[in-house]
Amino acid sequence: MGHNTPQFLYIMGRGHSGSTVLDALLGSGKNLQSVGEIVSGMPRTEDLCSCGEKIKNCYFWNAVKKKFEEESDYSWNQATEQIVEQAHIKSFYKTWRGHNANDINRLKEINQTLFKSISAVSGNKVVVDSSKEFTRGLFLAKYTANGKIIHLIRNPLAILASNLLRIKEGKFKILRYTFKARKTAFPFICLSAAGWLIGNALGELVGLVERGKVLRVRYEDLCEYPSRELKRIEAFSGHDLTDVIKSIEESKEIKIEHMIAGNRMRNNGSFVFSPSRKSHRKLPLQHSLLGVLITWPFMLKYGYLTQRLQHSISKLKTHTTRREIETKQPAFSEVPVSSE
Ligand SMILES: [Zn+2]
Repeated sequence: MGHNTPQFLYIMGRGHSGSTVLDALLGSGKNLQSVGEIVSGMPRTEDLCSCGEKIKNCYFWNAVKKKFEEESDYSWNQATEQIVEQAHIKSFYKTWRGHNANDINRLKEINQTLFKSISAVSGNKVVVDSSKEFTRGLFLAKYTANGKIIHLIRNPLAILASNLLRIKEGKFKILRYTFKARKTAFPFICLSAAGWLIGNALGELVGLVERGKVLRVRYEDLCEYPSRELKRIEAFSGHDLTDVIKSIEESKEIKIEHMIAGNRMRNNGSFVFSPSRKSHRKLPLQHSLLGVLITWPFMLKYGYLTQRLQHSISKLKTHTTRREIETKQPAFSEVPVSSE
């Protein structure tokens, strides 16, 4: 038993939503194995695994590959191709309809054998995959019964701030193409905001396919109330996260083993989750307005718009109270003086 029934936790969401952090956190739990982004990592064998070796030289991934090829009718390269192709947004409709039973069965076999191989090599029952792709989320939700999906959300304005930096550095990617802004970042901000809106709309669709298989988590809540959010994930997934919660509460170092692709933080070998850290990247006002204009329906749905309004109102309020105090103060100080 055990290894014959591997399970998975899949993290889907837009880029820069904190998926690598959540993946690594979950991977530190008992019986859970983080693997990073399967879809982006598997084809890039020249890239580094988080253990420091190139993926093609990493003993863990080589063992997974060997195990996979022993168990499957497909080669590792064929599996990689199939997984990457399925995860592309253009496969969303095809995956949704699922007309081609052969395609679906082949992909099911490949994914299950992959999870099984990772589980066997690592000795952990649950595989945590943070590929992020919504189309893969749809596939896993619709055609597998041994896993759960986390739809990770982050305030689009924070993501736009991250992307603005990338646009300027020429590292901005959308639909696997890289862009660099020559004169103005506006078209890229529009693209990035629209991508957030569409991506999360797809995420909501995935949640509709199989109710109870998808849990929505806001990255901001994970940072602010990590124990509460991890307990929610624990209740939803049925996997024991006591160790993870304890590590965070005690500010313990969390090890990162063999994660492929994803945020650069995974290359540090370990990390300490510092929940209350605020983003210091600020989005210029004109970009913020543009971002809100495009993403407002889901900003409203996820509570980011009301949060922002409350923030602005409370800022305005503290501003006025301070002014009231300043103007009233002389009147107060006059009272004791005159009563003496
Ligand atoms: Zn490795």
